[in-house]
Amino acid sequence: MPLTSTNSTGGQRSVAVVGAGVVGAATALALAQRGYLVTVFDHGEVGAGTSSGNAGGIVTGAVTPTATPGVLRSIPSYIFDPHGAAVLRPSYFFQVLPWLLRFIAAGRPARVASIAQALAPLVASAMQAHLALAELSGARELIRPVGWLKVYKSEAGFADSALERELMAQHGVNFSVLSATEVADLEPKLERNAYTRGLFQPDSGFVNYPTALTQVYFEAARQRQAQLVRESVLEIRPDASEDVSIRTSLSTRQFHCVVIAAGAWSGQFAKQIGDSVSLDTERGYHISFASTGDALLRRPVCFPEKHCVLSPMHDGIALVSGDELAGLTAPPDYRRIRALAPFARSVLPGLAKQTIQREWMGYRPSTPDSLPVIGRSPKRKNVFYAFGHGHLGLTLSAITAQLIAGLLSNDPDPYDLSAYAINRF
Ligand SMILES: Cc1cc2nc3c(=O)[nH]c(=O)nc-3n(C[C@H](O)[C@H](O)[C@H](O)COP(=O)(O)OP(=O)(O)OC[C@H]3O[C@@H](n4cnc5c(N)ncnc54)[C@H](O)[C@@H]3O)c2cc1C
Repeated sequence: MPLTSTNSTGGQRSVAVVGAGVVGAATALALAQRGYLVTVFDHGEVGAGTSSGNAGGIVTGAVTPTATPGVLRSIPSYIFDPHGAAVLRPSYFFQVLPWLLRFIAAGRPARVASIAQALAPLVASAMQAHLALAELSGARELIRPVGWLKVYKSEAGFADSALERELMAQHGVNFSVLSATEVADLEPKLERNAYTRGLFQPDSGFVNYPTALTQVYFEAARQRQAQLVRESVLEIRPDASEDVSIRTSLSTRQFHCVVIAAGAWSGQFAKQIGDSVSLDTERGYHISFASTGDALLRRPVCFPEKHCVLSPMHDGIALVSGDELAGLTAPPDYRRIRALAPFARSVLPGLAKQTIQREWMGYRPSTPDSLPVIGRSPKRKNVFYAFGHGHLGLTLSAITAQLIAGLLSNDPDPYDLSAYAINRF
């Protein structure tokens, strides 16, 4: 097997990025812009994995972690209620148990407060960070400043958002509670009986074609000398010379540094480095209704009581839902998302006659505390982590890229990054 050294071209420092999802592509661009010689590894197409099928939200008010007080009480519903907030496949129970115990612990009030505190600076700068990468890559028109809208049908449903509102207020998120008339002004084609209230974060953004955003970021990196190697990484091995080797089934190459951005598959690489992490996948689904050729929605609309989002994507309306604990290898189970299709057609009557053109499943890379892993390995100073973004990978990709580029360049940290460090596990 050939050993290629990519670390000496013109004195530039070479960096391998493992994973060409939105986090890897954004990171490749931020590093290439700073003059690093970047090589991205992925066996698949750029942006074709989990980063292709999300709801498109750049949610700048997402300071509320997934686990909140009361999570313990809802665990039985994960197993017995096929339409609850999350589904846990019984066959996966014992494998996910250690993660689940940490997830339950992360829902304690004091932990929720500190997690929100740690999420706040990331989400607050998420949009700015995307706009900066968009400026470099010409992706500006892919990022729409249309806000993030949640709608509620019942008073009880709205009351359940109390903690979220409290945390947003505490962390200075710009949001407002909307009357039904105000919701109707924003989204006139939503069925009027589908909601009585709304919660609106006007500063959030929306990407109606997430794959395109990832590809544009990568193309801009390529214009700055980044390369793509379409191979599956088998092993990441720091060597005695202070470099790091990336071994695939076809080659072994050496780099000065590596950034692990392989989404839900990142844990194996951290383990090879000697760092332990609690990472599992919260699988999510969408079905796509064929485009009506008519702008039915202006922005994503989230229905918290039904645990789903309707998003106006480039090729139709996506009904996005599902938080399924079943690991990386079990086949998809589309029953839950299919069961929501009649609801989607009822709240957006324009979908009544639209056919379903696609069913999709993706793997959120999730830590139990809803915080990403961003930082340098405590074991190896030339290994960096950029994964575990869970429900917020699109939102946080650009700010992660900025932070990783700063860490590689030994810039002073913009704020305390210890909450994202891998040694918290
Ligand atoms: C249904 C759903 C809705 C969502 N909605 C939103 C939303 O509205 N807003 C938001 O911010 N986030 C959302 N998310 C989350 C977001 O999509 C993810 O957090 C994000 O896509 C993760 O990006 P990533 O680059 O880390 O991982 P991925 O996109 O999974 O990329 C990882 C890449 O690593 C590659 N890889 C893995 N192993 C190897 C290997 N051994 N060798 C080489 N390459 C490898 C994979 O092929 C893949 O391309 C949603 C997720 C889902 C599932």
